[in-house]
Amino acid sequence: MKYVMIGGDAAGMSCAMQIYREDPDAHIVALEKGEIFSYGQCGLPYFIGGLIDHHDKLIARSADTFRDKYGIDARCSHEVTSIDPDQKTVSGIHTKTKMPFTETYDRLLIATGASPVTLDLNDRSLDGVHVLKTIPHALSIIKHLQKDVSHITIIGGGYIGLEMAENLKALGKDIHLIQRGSTLGPGFDQEMAKHLEEEATTHGIHVVLNETVQRLLGDSHVTAVQTDKQTIDTDMVIIAIGVNPQTSFLDGTAIDRLENGAIVVNRYMQTNVKDIYAAGDCAATYHLVKKRLDYIPLGTTANKQGRIAGFHMTGTNRAFQGVTGTAVMKFMDVTAGRTGLSENEAKKEGIPYSTSTIRSTDHAGYYPDAKKMKVKLIYRSDNRSLLGAQIIGKSGVDKRIDVMATALYQELTLTDLEDLDISYAPPFNSVWDPLQQAARRT
Ligand SMILES: Cc1cc2nc3c(=O)[nH]c(=O)nc-3n(C[C@H](O)[C@H](O)[C@H](O)COP(=O)(O)OP(=O)(O)OC[C@H]3O[C@@H](n4cnc5c(N)ncnc54)[C@H](O)[C@@H]3O)c2cc1C
Repeated sequence: MKYVMIGGDAAGMSCAMQIYREDPDAHIVALEKGEIFSYGQCGLPYFIGGLIDHHDKLIARSADTFRDKYGIDARCSHEVTSIDPDQKTVSGIHTKTKMPFTETYDRLLIATGASPVTLDLNDRSLDGVHVLKTIPHALSIIKHLQKDVSHITIIGGGYIGLEMAENLKALGKDIHLIQRGSTLGPGFDQEMAKHLEEEATTHGIHVVLNETVQRLLGDSHVTAVQTDKQTIDTDMVIIAIGVNPQTSFLDGTAIDRLENGAIVVNRYMQTNVKDIYAAGDCAATYHLVKKRLDYIPLGTTANKQGRIAGFHMTGTNRAFQGVTGTAVMKFMDVTAGRTGLSENEAKKEGIPYSTSTIRSTDHAGYYPDAKKMKVKLIYRSDNRSLLGAQIIGKSGVDKRIDVMATALYQELTLTDLEDLDISYAPPFNSVWDPLQQAARRT
């Protein structure tokens, strides 16, 4: 059986490795348009900040390793430009030699990821404006930082914008962080997000909320960012305003996609076209709380979906259960975690909800060094089942948000949460965990 992967990163190569494990006779071809296979994009902000000294450390397995150790035909510089489901072929171009190629498949995985959204504001592109998605993007930012850069404007206050702000601040740069909406962070409600804003301000980052960037100014190099309310002089701009699924090469095929282009898949990662699968940032994912397909591009999901596709392509019917929208991030001295629905999302989904917000500490208040923690629970007001949680604090956030992710996965109620046998000893917790304190306060 011949399996072809389009895209050689998290989803594509998780699938390839699962096929390798499941089918000893597999002929696996992985077509990657870039030069690097299987690397941790999530580490890029820390590489730019100097915490990781070489980008090679982000590479899980190189193309050579895939070829030599696993017999996977991993090809760089191979950009797929079209699929013919009737002939069962993919075609494209070698990005360096410009030579066309065509490859047959028995089973195909589309794992082309997502591309960063750019701002199309000027008639021509200016130097000094960056996005961050790949190792070449990171190297280009690092090269630029070696020039005379003292002020940087980051457009977008989601997790990539915040992680970049932290890492560039650590390099001694003056930072403006512009967010069009009123909150920072990935989908936090206002009263939780305000702590991220406070943290930014405490560390000398200039936070600009509720302003829209209208133009980037400069002759050939960017010199200022103009919003609807002010002009900010700058030496460098980083745009981090989200990503779009890279699926435009499927235009004209019968493969179903959501409005934003994300490929519609079932729980086995099959598309509506026979023998074609999709996984990772190019695909939609089932949201367990919303109970419908959603688009939440994350590395943790891409790896799982790729593996599930690999199972099904080789004959094992193991379903992907879905996501609850869990995310955690470090920003300066705080950790912020969220899972399930925010209050805003519950409102949008038309779900009757209530909330409980408490301030507590990460462990017993009498034990030294207890750190403040704020917990917000969102739950159904009709049957008290849990809908979501947001937690901000200096320590112990990650374990609580993962408890909540598990609770949502199991569709637990507030009463179940109160009764959970959560670990306790004074250095780690209070007798009532902060989550349980929040559940009891309802
Ligand atoms: C700065 C940053 C920080 C992040 N931090 C986190 C985090 O902390 N936690 C988390 O869960 N996620 C994080 N993510 C997201 C995570 O990296 C992605 O969700 C994950 O990489 C998606 O994997 P993928 O395989 O679906 O897509 P990608 O990693 O984008 O890989 C797709 C591959 O397909 C190739 N490709 C595209 N089109 C074609 C084509 N036509 N032909 C051939 N090849 C093609 C691309 O070159 C690319 O190599 C972060 C991302 C970034 C950029």
